[in-house]
Amino acid sequence: MSEKILSLRPNRPSLMRYLDSYIRRAHADGKQVALLVVQVKRGDELGALFGYQTVEGLLEQFGARLDDICRSQDRIMRVGDYEFALILPEIMNEGHAILAANKIMRTLATPFEIGGHVVSMGANMGIALFPDHAGKPETLLQNAELALSDAARNGASYVMYSDTTPEKLAGNWDLESELDIALDNGELEIYYQPKINLRGGLLAGAEALLRWRSPKRGIVPPNVFIPIATRTGQIKELTWSAINMALQHAATWPTRFGPLSLAINIAPSLLEDEALVSRVADAMGMWGAKPNRLILEITESAVMGNPDMSFETIRELKNKGVAVSIDDFGTGYSSLANFKNIPASELKIDKSFVISMLSSKADANIVRTIINLAQAFELQVAAEGAESMEILRILATLQCNYAQGYYISQPVPAGTFAQFVNEYVPPVF
Ligand code: C2E
Ligand code: MG
Ligand code: MG
Repeated sequence: MSEKILSLRPNRPSLMRYLDSYIRRAHADGKQVALLVVQVKRGDELGALFGYQTVEGLLEQFGARLDDICRSQDRIMRVGDYEFALILPEIMNEGHAILAANKIMRTLATPFEIGGHVVSMGANMGIALFPDHAGKPETLLQNAELALSDAARNGASYVMYSDTTPEKLAGNWDLESELDIALDNGELEIYYQPKINLRGGLLAGAEALLRWRSPKRGIVPPNVFIPIATRTGQIKELTWSAINMALQHAATWPTRFGPLSLAINIAPSLLEDEALVSRVADAMGMWGAKPNRLILEITESAVMGNPDMSFETIRELKNKGVAVSIDDFGTGYSSLANFKNIPASELKIDKSFVISMLSSKADANIVRTIINLAQAFELQVAAEGAESMEILRILATLQCNYAQGYYISQPVPAGTFAQFVNEYVPPVF
C-alpha cells in the first residue's frame, strides 16, 4: 500500500486528525488545502448484487486507482462504507481540485473486474477548500459533504462548495454598490469551460464564464450578478472587460490542439449598442485574435426578441470574422419563418434538454430535432450540459458537432486552463 493511502477502513476520527495537521501546516505556510469527498453511487445496490466481499474488493481497486492519479503529497482515506476523502495540500487555486475531480471521473470510465464480473462504478464528489470555505477541519468536512449531497441530488459528478447560493443573495441590494467596487478592484474573473469536437474528441475551444470573487461573499455565480449588472447598466463595462481579459488569456493558450476557439457571452442589452461591432473588432485587433476564432454567444430569446435588429448586428459581426452562436437554443421564441434567415454560425442546445436526455424521451427528441434543424440550415451545433459519457456518445452518434459539460470539465479558473489543455485526454467513443 502506498504512503498516500492513510486507511482503507472507514476511519473518520483519524481523518479529522490528519485534516487538522494539514490545515495547521497550510495556515503557517499561507497555502490552500482542498478536501474532496468521493461517494460511490448506489453502493448499497452493489452490495446486495455482488456481496460484501466483492464490493470491498472493488473499493480496494478504486482506492488503488485514486492512488495512481494522486500526487505524492496527496492523502487518501476511506471515511464511510462507500466514501473516500482526499486531502490535497499545496494547491494553488480551486482549479487544481477541479482537475483532480476530472481525473477521478475519468478513471471511473474504465469498468472494474472482480471474480469474473465486470462492474461499472459511478461516483459523486463534493469539494471544499481551506481557507476559502472553512477554517476548521469539522467545517471543511461538513462543507465538502454538503457539496457532495448537492452533487448527488442534482446528479452532478462534482460540486464545489459555495456559501453564496442564489437564494441567500436574492434581494440583497448592497450587491449593486459592491459590484461597482468589484469592477474597480478587479474582483471579476473569467473561468473557462472546454468545448470538444465530437468527431474525434479533440479540444475545440472554451467558453469564457464570469465569476465574481468577492472578499465578503466568496465566489458569486453569474446568475446572481449578471441580472443586477443588467438592471444597473454595469453590464456594458463588465462585458468589455470580459472580452478584453478573455482575448488576452486566449492569446497565451497552448496550441497542442491547434488554435482554440473562444466563446464569450453577450448580454441582450449589448445587441442594441451601436458600438458593439467596432469595439469587438478593435479588441480582436489589439490581442491578435484570428478571424473565426472568436464566437459571441447570444441567447435565442435576445435574438428573436428583435430579429430585424439582431440579424443586422450578427451579419456585421460575421463580416468582421466573428461567429455568433445562439445560446440556450430551444428555450426562446424562434419561429421557423424568422429562423430561416438567421445569419448565425452555430446553435447551442440548452443544457436543460441535454442533461435529461437519458431520462426523458421528450428532451431526447428535442435534442435530436435541434441537431437536424442545424444540419438542414448548414449551421454548426453544440450541446452544453454533457454530464456523462453516454450523453457524449449519443450526441456523437447524432452528429452533433461540439459538446461542453461537466463530464469533460466544469469551468476552470483562467490560470488552470492551460494545464487542462496540456493534460487533456480525448474520451474514447
Ligand atoms: P450559459 O452561457 O448557457 O453557460 C453555460 C452554463 O452551464 C455555465 O454556468 C456552465 O457552468 C453550465 N454548465 C455547463 N455544462 C454543464 C453541465 O454539464 N451540467 C450543468 N449542470 N451545468 C453545466 P455558469 O458559468 O454558472 O453561467 C451561467 C450563465 O451566466 C451563462 O449561461 C450565461 O448566460 C451567464 N454568463 C456567464 N458569464 C457571462 C458573461 O461574461 N457575460 C454575460 N452576459 N453572461 C454571462
Ligand atoms: Mg453561453
Ligand atoms: Mg447556455
